[in-house]
Amino acid sequence: MATLKRNDPCLCGSGKKYKKCCLVKLQAKPRFDEKDQLAFNELLPRVFDYSKKFDQQLQPVYERYVQSLERLPKADAQAFSQLIFHWMLFNYPMVDGNETILSDYVKKQGSSYSEKFQQFLQEWLALEPKLFHVTSSDDKNMAIYDVFQETSLTLEKTPASANLTEGDRLIGYLYPTPTGHSLGNDAIGIPQKLEQSFLTHLNEMKSLSETKTNEQEWFTSHFHEALDVLSLLTISGKELQAEERLNDSSKQVLNLLKEKLDWSVFTFDRFLKAKVTWIAYTKEHSPRIQKPEAFSAALEYWIGKQTEGSGGLSQKTVSEKYSVSPGTVSSKYKSIR
Ligand SMILES: [Zn+2]
Repeated sequence: MATLKRNDPCLCGSGKKYKKCCLVKLQAKPRFDEKDQLAFNELLPRVFDYSKKFDQQLQPVYERYVQSLERLPKADAQAFSQLIFHWMLFNYPMVDGNETILSDYVKKQGSSYSEKFQQFLQEWLALEPKLFHVTSSDDKNMAIYDVFQETSLTLEKTPASANLTEGDRLIGYLYPTPTGHSLGNDAIGIPQKLEQSFLTHLNEMKSLSETKTNEQEWFTSHFHEALDVLSLLTISGKELQAEERLNDSSKQVLNLLKEKLDWSVFTFDRFLKAKVTWIAYTKEHSPRIQKPEAFSAALEYWIGKQTEGSGGLSQKTVSEKYSVSPGTVSSKYKSIR
């Protein structure tokens, strides 16, 4: 297959020739001398090293976030946890509440770099996890569409992106390099059969969070939860997609639960797990639902039981919240658990 030439139309879809579009963006970069090139090669290892200083803070949070990945196939779990780790370096506000590991590193060590490299570091400070759509692809190049920023970019393929084809969706980082940008080998592909469900759940999750920010900011700050959703879809995608086929009263059970859960305490993945459990239960038992509240209450109690010591309510409290008797909560809980 022919690879992109200077006079070809740019893959990003701008309608301009490649040499007047994304290639210019590449060539506009000042070239690195040997010292800056070395600094670039060593940048990530140094930031990793620097992060060890914060291990005591970082480790428990990281472990909590990767816990839900346990049920993924091993290779997937590794990819997901690598992405979470990078997110914790670049976007997780940790040092003094608002600095990230990376921004703290740049603050403390930045002056040891050349001026050119310090400018380059500013691009790194702007790193955010992205949702991409591959819009065009050949052997050597591809164009990716940034779903939140609504921009396209033609990139040279790297070994990590060699197999991507048109129509693929990805989440991950687009790393600044001395010669442009490169899709990280930590990017994760979203299988096409899960894509719609992923976006639907992302929207559902967003509608529940109180912070009103733009989509990219929201995605950046809730990235670990977005990965949780994707991992749950990977494991239980079939069940979750069966949600549409639930009857009205079964749907009402989920809606009530969603309405009543304290979202300042519960995370979306816990709600999703309850959903999976509920869908599996209705499929197997086709329960007669006279009072949806009874099942919603039992599900809320179930969620609390799943993650003891973090927001779970007693049977009595749950029963009061949903105006059903504690005995009802107990018996429905026993049947669904
Ligand atoms: Zn272009």
